[in-house]
Amino acid sequence: MNTRRIIAGVNNLNKADFNTIRNIFKNGGLVAFPTETVYGLGADALNPQASEKIYQAKGRPSDNPLIVHIAKLSDLYTIVREVPDKAVRLAGAFWPGPLTMIFKKNDRVPYSTTGGLDTAAVRMPGHKIALEVIEAGGGFIAAPSANTSGRPSPTLAKHVLEDMDGRIDAVIDGGKVGIGLESTIVDMSGSIPVILRPGYITREMMEKVIGSVEIDKAITGTVPYNGRPKAPGMKYKHYAPRAPLTIVEGETRLVAEKINTLVKEKIQLGYKAGILASEETKDFYTQGIIKAIGTRSREETIAANLYASLREFDETEVSCIYSEAFYTPHMGNAIMNRLLKAAGYQVITVG
Ligand code: AMP
Ligand code: MG
Repeated sequence: MNTRRIIAGVNNLNKADFNTIRNIFKNGGLVAFPTETVYGLGADALNPQASEKIYQAKGRPSDNPLIVHIAKLSDLYTIVREVPDKAVRLAGAFWPGPLTMIFKKNDRVPYSTTGGLDTAAVRMPGHKIALEVIEAGGGFIAAPSANTSGRPSPTLAKHVLEDMDGRIDAVIDGGKVGIGLESTIVDMSGSIPVILRPGYITREMMEKVIGSVEIDKAITGTVPYNGRPKAPGMKYKHYAPRAPLTIVEGETRLVAEKINTLVKEKIQLGYKAGILASEETKDFYTQGIIKAIGTRSREETIAANLYASLREFDETEVSCIYSEAFYTPHMGNAIMNRLLKAAGYQVITVG
C-alpha cells in the first residue's frame, strides 16, 4: 500500500483533501491525523472491519480497546447507554480537549472497537484538523496513537511514517502536536469517577468541577501493578525506545553523579550510552549522548518532547539510556507514568 502524505494548512483541510479522507473512511481505510495530544490512527469506529485494520497496522493486542473520537456533544448520546450528570459537567469544562471518558456502550459500537468490552471510551479532541477528520469520517472515528504497539507515541507526522509507512492509506501532516502526551482517561461508568490514565487534565482540575475523583491503583505506584487492570492497555509494555531505559531519581546532584558513573562504566566497556536530562541539569553530565528534553520551569516542554527524545535515541545506536525523573507540579504524574512504562519500571533511587 502506498501511504499518501497530506499536508494540512495551518488550521484546516482543503476540499479535495477532505473528500479524499472521506472516501478512505467510507472504504474502511486508515488515516493518521494530528490531535492536540499525539497523532491518532483513525478508522470508522462503527465499522467493525475498519477497527480491525487498526489492530493489524499497529500490531496491537485485540483486547486493548480503542477511543472513539467525536466532533459534537450530541453524537455522544447516540453511542452510549447513559451519560451521567458528572460526565455532562466534565464535558462542559474540558471538551473539546485532552479528556477521554468511559461510558456503557450501546449496540452501535462494535465489540471490535471496544476490545470486547461493554464500555466505550469517548473523546472530543481540541484540534481543528482532528475535528474535520472526524466529520469526514461520519462523526465517529476510532483512533489510538499512530505508532507500532509498544513504541513511543508519534508527536510528528515523521514519527507516524517511521512506523506506519505502507501500512495505512494516508497521514495528515499538521506539524508538531501541542501537548505531546495522550489524553487523561476517566471511567464514568461506575458510581465514582476513576482515573485510569493520567494526562494534562489532572485529578484536581476534575475535582473542582465534579467533586471526588479516584485514581486507579494501577497508576499510582512506581512498580508494575499485578492486579487485574481496568484499562486493558495498562498491562502492555508501552512507549519504549529500542535501548533499555533506566530512571535514576533522588537529589539532583546525586542523580548526576550516579548517571555519570554508570555512563563511564558503559563507555569503558565500549558501549554508547544516552542521558535524558533537562536544560537546568544538562551541564552536570560529562560523557555520553546528552539530551535536554525540556525546561523544568516550563514543564509543558518536557511533556511535548518526551516521545520525540525517546525516538531520537533510536537513531544514535546507544546501548542504554539513563533518565532523570520529572516529577513536575502539574504534568509530573502523566510524564512519569509514561517514562516508567518506557523504562519497564527500572528505577534506581540515590541518596
Ligand atoms: P491509545 O489510544 O493507544 O492511547 O489507547 C487507548 C487507551 O484507552 C488504552 O490504554 C485502553 O486501555 C483505554 N481504553 C479504551 N477504551 C476503554 C474502555 N472501554 N475501558 C477501559 N479502558 C479503555
Ligand atoms: Mg497508544
